Amino acid sequence: MSALYGTYARSELSFERGEGMRLFDQHGREYLDFHSGVAVNALGHGDPHLVTALKAAADKVWHTANTFTIPEQERLGQRLVEATFADAVFFTNSGAEALECAIKTARHYFWAKGQENRFEIIAFTGSFHGRTLGTIAAGGNPDYLQGFGPAAPGFKHAKPGDLESVKALITPETCAILIEPVQGEGGVTAMSSEFMQGLRALCDEHDMLLILDEVQCGFGRTGRFFAYEWSGITPDIVAVAKAIGGGFPLGACLAKGEVAASMVPGTHGSTYGGNPLATAVGNAVLDRILAPGFLNRVNEMGQRLTWHLQQLAQKYPDHILELRGKGLLTGIKIATPVRDMVTRLRDDHQLLAMSAGDNVLRLLPPLIVTEADIEEAIAKISAAFEAIDAEAATPAAAS
Ligand SMILES: *Cc1c(COP(=O)(O)O)cnc(C)c1O
Repeated sequence: MSALYGTYARSELSFERGEGMRLFDQHGREYLDFHSGVAVNALGHGDPHLVTALKAAADKVWHTANTFTIPEQERLGQRLVEATFADAVFFTNSGAEALECAIKTARHYFWAKGQENRFEIIAFTGSFHGRTLGTIAAGGNPDYLQGFGPAAPGFKHAKPGDLESVKALITPETCAILIEPVQGEGGVTAMSSEFMQGLRALCDEHDMLLILDEVQCGFGRTGRFFAYEWSGITPDIVAVAKAIGGGFPLGACLAKGEVAASMVPGTHGSTYGGNPLATAVGNAVLDRILAPGFLNRVNEMGQRLTWHLQQLAQKYPDHILELRGKGLLTGIKIATPVRDMVTRLRDDHQLLAMSAGDNVLRLLPPLIVTEADIEEAIAKISAAFEAIDAEAATPAAAS
């Protein structure tokens, strides 16, 4: 019996070693990683540059409070500002905390302008923003809210892709729109450029802020630094986490200067957020992702993955109902239960993949994936489809 909370349906599988795209279990068995610890291991496992950065940081001061200057945090903040739309950054330990900061920043911006009644945020069905009391209310998934008391007030939910459903929810209390440019956990649904542009226009028209949750789709995953860049818009606030630390717990809330201006001493804080160890690793991750050619290569691999998935869908039309996603955040809506498929791929074919909502098989390899890795993953998925068909033809073999 485990001493841990039973909050996860855990496999007994445990990994001892990782190298690039590969993980090795306690029996030395090799797995191809198209899971990336939920989009976290953007540079795969054991990246030498990251390992060196963490070891060097371990020899220095591990932690100081945010009431002191933390040089690595200053540097990471400055680099993020230079690379993006943002003028100001708040560091957190996780995605949910980055969203909490984003929500607080938006509400406080209007409060400071004397519009304290503007606290309502329009979010979307099928979204996921984390597991804190605030972010489960923002996500609106009834399964995650049930049993935890009244949902935190101030969130309404429109339909992704449906601008009219957003317009219908706008009131004098609305302060912001919150959306994942590519919904991850909800089913790997990529928003169209037109829809993102429509949201930006609505925000401009009604003096609302546009908050993007790029915790999963940001930091290079779609082939651009941020997924919103594909639509040519500029957001007001962006929450990031996951890939930003490459495996070290780190998140951030990025904002325009004017929007973040009211967040003065006393308004927000975090004990660990952006501590020396975390931001040393964050800087090393950024070295790699901003290196010339890196994102172009991710973009190219995203296109290769899409192409191979299209071939697969043609070959297995009975198994593949729909292809979704953007870049290296891809989803395959399949005909058989996705959880069984994830288990089968893992146990029989040594491919680590994920499930997402709407019975979608989610593939999100580290950004260092090669076309040979993609071909190997496709071969493993093909083999799984073949095995399912063989078992259906001879039912006795399935047991
Ligand atoms: C994972 C995720 C979060 C929450 O991040 P945590 O680090 O688990 O708190 C929020 N938004 C999106 C889109 C995510 O994928």
